[in-house]
Amino acid sequence: RVKNLHNTDVGYYQADLDELARQRRTMVVELSRAIESDQFELHYQVQKHVQTHEVVGYEALVRWRHPERGMVSPMEFIPLAEHSGLIVPLGEHVLRLACRQAAAWPRPYKVAVNVSPVQMLDDSLPRLIEQVLDETGLDPSRLEVEITESTLVADPEHTVRILKAVRSLGVSVALDDFGTGYSTLASLSLFPFDRIKLDKAFLSEIDRSPQAKAIVQAVLTIGKSLNIPVLAEGVEREDQMELLREEGCSEAQGYLLGRPAPTITIPDVVVPLRLVDRASA
Ligand code: C2E
Ligand code: MG
Ligand code: MG
Ligand code: MG
Repeated sequence: RVKNLHNTDVGYYQADLDELARQRRTMVVELSRAIESDQFELHYQVQKHVQTHEVVGYEALVRWRHPERGMVSPMEFIPLAEHSGLIVPLGEHVLRLACRQAAAWPRPYKVAVNVSPVQMLDDSLPRLIEQVLDETGLDPSRLEVEITESTLVADPEHTVRILKAVRSLGVSVALDDFGTGYSTLASLSLFPFDRIKLDKAFLSEIDRSPQAKAIVQAVLTIGKSLNIPVLAEGVEREDQMELLREEGCSEAQGYLLGRPAPTITIPDVVVPLRLVDRASA
């Protein structure tokens, strides 16, 4: 039994922490093997215009097909990949795969790729993107890089320099999970983003909380003033879509419009939204 200075029993906690640390170490080893043996795949989630329902593009979301545990969520392994530095080779793999697949799509939709703050620390990111575009033949205008506010907080000057270099390739840059970070408004003044992605936390509360609704409206106003389209994340219901339409939101993404899927079936024609609420009324 482990005792602390106050002579109370901390055995269980210590055991839990040891177990947690052991699990993490195991996963880091597995993660590095998984990169070598190509256990990752991309699911794609559609992004649509709110008014016209036209497809804007697809976001690439990485999945780990673990040999024993099945499909592992990025929420579980991305933080670990970031801490261990493995996000650098993993991120390169994701970028290459997304560009290669998008280049083969029957229609020239945009592909959005998430880039971790850790990948941004390195000066070589713009060069890597240029190289991957070159090698896959994807038109730069079809690639969008998604970064979060935390990327800008760590080292704003450096990040802005990298983002400008990325932008100069003809690639667009989106600000992901907007509204959840520590310096939301500062981020917008640091770099002229091509798109603001409003975090799904606000939308989920929109019908119950007047505050959440007011925040969504305020962000849409900011977007309009800065001339940056706002994409609402996490649209699950038709009433949320209706509200976004009324408030003049440009774009939306969420389960209502399409879940992330392993193989994309890109429609040849614009498919109108199923009006779930009305159909059942
Ligand atoms: P994100 O970039 O904000 O991606 C959106 C997440 O919201 C995805 O979760 C998506 O499945 C989920 N989502 C989409 N629509 C809805 C909805 O209507 N309701 C709800 N409740 N959720 C919805 P996912 O795929 O689990 O990814 C989680 C996060 O992991 C991503 O958040 C992103 O930050 C990170 N991630 C995913 N792929 C990559 C990658 O290739 N590289 C890096 N660095 N991060 C990644
Ligand atoms: Mg994203
Ligand atoms: Mg997001
Ligand atoms: Mg996120």
